[in-house]
Amino acid sequence: MTKGMIFDIQRYSIHDGPGIRTTVFLKECPLRCAWCANPESWGSVPRLFHLQSRCIRCFSCAAAAKEGQVKAAPDGPIFDFGSCTGDDALRLAAACPAGALVVKGTPMAPEEVFRVIERDLPFYERSGGGVTLSGGEPLLQKDFAKELLTLCKEARISTAVETTGLVPWETFAELQGLVDLYLYDIKHLDPEVHKARTGRSNEQISENLKKLSATDAHIHVRTPVIPGFNDTPEALRAIADFLDALGIRERTLLPFHQYGSSKFRSCGLSYQMDSVPQMTPETLQHLAETSKFYQTGGNKS
Ligand code: SF4
Ligand code: SF4
Repeated sequence: MTKGMIFDIQRYSIHDGPGIRTTVFLKECPLRCAWCANPESWGSVPRLFHLQSRCIRCFSCAAAAKEGQVKAAPDGPIFDFGSCTGDDALRLAAACPAGALVVKGTPMAPEEVFRVIERDLPFYERSGGGVTLSGGEPLLQKDFAKELLTLCKEARISTAVETTGLVPWETFAELQGLVDLYLYDIKHLDPEVHKARTGRSNEQISENLKKLSATDAHIHVRTPVIPGFNDTPEALRAIADFLDALGIRERTLLPFHQYGSSKFRSCGLSYQMDSVPQMTPETLQHLAETSKFYQTGGNKS
């Protein structure tokens, strides 16, 4: 049995695939996108988050901390988040009487997660939903993902995986038959631009998509549209051309939002997208039209 490192399980989700779903969020991601909405996924160990709005400045955390982890300042505690991980994060959170310290990252066995998933079986059946593995990059925890997906398939629960595509091809090959739908992110086709804003080149991502599209996998590509990164007709048209060539028709543009902003601050990371306005549906629609991106939920040809 392989334990997975989970940072959230959301029931009744309607945005992570068809129907009503349970979305399981796994820790660790190979990318570091400035616009990330889930920085809880970053790193493989449990991480501490400080919810400022709940903090009553009692400084119990400082009393429970090791040297250098928490400084008691007049405006509230200042954390050295880099050293407040794993067991230290758990100890500090347990010392907080106000629920202002939250640890993201819990080791769970596949059976444990499955027991949460199976509670909503009637909803999946009625809505055409199921379970979605998300992250971060859920396939970085391949063995856990495989065991959990196997349990779902045995129970006839539909499965989806949200992926960055940045894992060895062997991982996709090993999961063949266990994933009913891949929600596959394509962010930019230029390797240099991709690397500059996400920390990694896109070459393996594109290669894996080519290989996956040559199998019978059901793929829906999603592209987050980020101002100053890929919000041009040329960048989006290049992606659409790539998908056309692979015969992938299902594709969606996702508008930039600032959902990650407060999370970045809560774990001591600096958020660089504060001055970037959220993208309106009208702007997104205009970009889709001018780039002839042709968003569709149709089947892969
Ligand atoms: S791939 Fe997703 S989870 Fe990973 S850093 Fe980018 S936005 Fe965040
Ligand atoms: S223990 Fe909790 S409420 Fe008290 S100062 Fe620390 S974070 Fe704030």
